[in-house]
Formats: sequence, C-alpha cells, structure tokens
Amino acid sequence: MKCDVAVVGAGPIGSMAAKYAAKNGADTLLIEEHQEIGAPVACAGIISTRALDECEIGLGRWINREVKGAFIYSPNGHSIAVGGNETRAYVIERKAFDQELARQALKTGVDILLKTRAVGLKNRVLEVVSYGERLEIEADIVIGADGVKSQVARWAALGNVKKVLGGVQIEGLYELRNPGFVEVFIGPVAPGFFAWTIPVEDGIARVGLCATARPFHHFRTMLKSHPVISKRYHGSYLDFVVGGIPLGPPEQTTADGVMLVGDAAGQVKPTSGGGIYTGALCAKVAGEVAAAAVSEGDTSAKRLAEYEKRWRSAIWRELSIGMKIHEAMGKLSDSDFDRIIRTLDDTGILGIISQYGDMDYPSAVVKKLILAKPSLLRLSGVLAKALR
Ligand SMILES: Cc1cc2nc3c(=O)[nH]c(=O)nc-3n(C[C@H](O)[C@H](O)[C@H](O)COP(=O)(O)OP(=O)(O)OC[C@H]3O[C@@H](n4cnc5c(N)ncnc54)[C@H](O)[C@@H]3O)c2cc1C
Repeated sequence: MKCDVAVVGAGPIGSMAAKYAAKNGADTLLIEEHQEIGAPVACAGIISTRALDECEIGLGRWINREVKGAFIYSPNGHSIAVGGNETRAYVIERKAFDQELARQALKTGVDILLKTRAVGLKNRVLEVVSYGERLEIEADIVIGADGVKSQVARWAALGNVKKVLGGVQIEGLYELRNPGFVEVFIGPVAPGFFAWTIPVEDGIARVGLCATARPFHHFRTMLKSHPVISKRYHGSYLDFVVGGIPLGPPEQTTADGVMLVGDAAGQVKPTSGGGIYTGALCAKVAGEVAAAAVSEGDTSAKRLAEYEKRWRSAIWRELSIGMKIHEAMGKLSDSDFDRIIRTLDDTGILGIISQYGDMDYPSAVVKKLILAKPSLLRLSGVLAKALR
C-alpha cells in the first residue's frame, strides 16, 4: 500500500492534520487502532468558543452545554465566581466530536482505515496490523497523532514530553451549583493540578481531577470526603475516564519523513491540560506543510522544519509561560492558595478576570492581574520568580 501522507491516530488532531494534508493535495491515509472513532474517551470535554471555531465544525449534536463561567475554590472552601452571561466555552461529547472531525476528513478525500494499529516505522515504511493482518504502508511522510503514549515519537527517536499528569473522571449524578458554570478546586484535593466538576445536563456532571502522582488515590478521597464534592455527588456514574495529560513538548517534533502533532507532540496547555485548541491549530500547519513537502519531493527533516518553526511561533510562548505557572503552582502551599483566592475576591479584580480571562491564552489575564494587584506577586515568591 502507498500514500503521500499516513496519519497515525484518528483522534481530533489526527483527523484535522489528515484533513489539511488532503485539502492541500496530498493522497492521505488516516489509520486508527480502534474499530470506532472517538472511543474510549479520555477528556473532560471543555473547549473554548475559539477552539470550536478552530476545529471548523460549528455547533451540532456534539455540544452538551454552554459554559459561562467558573467557581474557583481555594483549599479552605472559599470560592469566587468568574465569568458572567457570555458563552465562553462548550461542554462537548467527545465521541460525537471526534467522529464529526473524522467525517470532515473523509469528505475532504482522506482514506480512513479502522482497526489498524501501527506497530513499526523504518525508512518511511509504516508497519501495521490491520484486521489481524500485517501490512506495510509506504508513505513519504508519517504524521504521529497517536496521543500521549506516542510510538511514532519513539520510532523516530524524537524524545519524550517533559511530564505526564494522571487524570481520572466519572460522569454521574451531581447537584449542580449553577448549570452554566464549571467548578475548579485547587490545593490538596489534586496535588500539582486541580479537580473539576463540569455540567453535562441537569443533575449530571463530569467530576474529575488530574494530579502529578497517585490520581486514583486522590480521586477516591475526593469523592468520599471532599467537603463540597462528596456532598453533591450521589454515588452512581455512567462513565469512567482515565488518561494522561502530556506537558512540555519534546525538543524536536520533526525528523526525516516524520512529524508529531497534538498530544504526541505535547501541544497541550499546562495551566488547564486542554489540548484540543492547541493541537488543532498545529494540525492544520502540519497538514499544510506535509502536503507542500510531498509536492516538492522533499520530505527531509530540513524541509519539515517549517512545521516546527510555524507551530512554535504560534503557541510556544504561551506554552512555556503556562509551564512556568504550572511549575510554580505546584510549589504553593494551601495557605498561599487561600490568600491568592481571597485577594482575587474583589469586584475590580473579578471584573478584570471576566473581561480578559482567556482559557487558551491565560498569560494575558495573569499579567493584567499583577499590574492591578502587585500584592499577588508578593503573596508568593515562587509565582513571582516564574512570571519574571
Ligand atoms: C482526564 C482528561 C481530561 C481532559 N480534558 C480536556 C478538556 O476538557 N479540553 C481539552 O481541550 N482537552 C482535554 N484533555 C486533553 C485532550 O483529551 C487531548 O489533548 C486530545 O485528545 C488530544 O488529541 P490527539 O488527537 O492528539 O490524541 P488522542 O485523542 O489521544 O488520539 C490519539 C488516537 O491515536 C490512536 N492510536 C494510538 N496509537 C496508535 C497506533 N499505534 N496505531 C493506530 N492508532 C493509534 C488512539 O486510539 C487515538 O484514537 C483531557 C485529557 C485528559 C486525560
């Protein structure tokens, strides 16, 4: 079997990269190890309105809810509300969302091969097991969109992402505080990251957390004894999600005939763990550059470096500031968090967050807040150092 571009992994980012390669003239094959696109799900399903635009699929059956704001809880239980009446984000049904992105790729001319697992890559030959049969696919370029445990990255010796957080979530019965608001809990409930509740429909929410270590232990403890969550979660669930969130891209995401994109390339926001917006943005560049390189007959690492350069200039700065904020937050004590949330609980400050808060580019609001309230930096030496 032969093609110009073979994309490994039909997650949202693989479908987007394949669509853009085909749209720009490449004969493109998208392979997925599962027999169904979009399952199993490993996502909380919150994306910004901008991310939905970036994915080019608009509103549809994949949207569960609009999100207008968030309640943020400090370790001592004090909460602030940010946001308001405007729709900032959507809660999406990932399976339907992924399937729609694949449908768009299919309509653009991408060939999709399900139940086909990539098992090796050497000299531009991708070895796969397709419906139990071993096959070879000769591809000028292989795009690794194979997620957090990317094998393509390993085969191309592209190195690892800097760190992987563990996430656990259920979708179950939960008394919502406000059906248009998510809840975020910081502190010991989820060391190194945060816990969340996300409204899906009346009486049902996704309740989960990510942590740097022992996520299951923290998750069980949270459901059993967290002062807010344990009271509102009613003990039954429909869905259970486990997954890793890769933070910090490897040094290189391209090699001769190989490109990495999405979670495989660590293109994930370190402050929220969201990878759909950043991944989709990079996938378009990957597809475009792959198609151009094939048509020029040069798929060397040197030619593909255009992808590396373009995606880094689009999001690298935000990812690296996000990584510094993430690392700094991991060093804050419970009382630091309590003081920060108390300081933010001020009408002027909450107004700034509502006006400038941007889940895809959080560094802008952090800077505005520090300008408005320099005491925020004094509250924590580590945060100050990170943002310098
Ligand atoms: C708990 C949790 C909550 C999250 N919440 C959010 C959120 O609210 N918002 C957000 O934006 N992001 C969120 N994310 C991150 C988001 O899910 C990922 O960034 C996104 O799925 C990345 O898409 P992808 O296509 O790169 O990888 P994936 O979605 O992981 O897709 C990779 C695909 O490759 C396939 N594959 C893997 N290996 C092979 C192989 N060898 N051969 C063939 N196929 C293969 C897999 O089956 C899979 O279909 C969350 C992640 C976790 C773990």
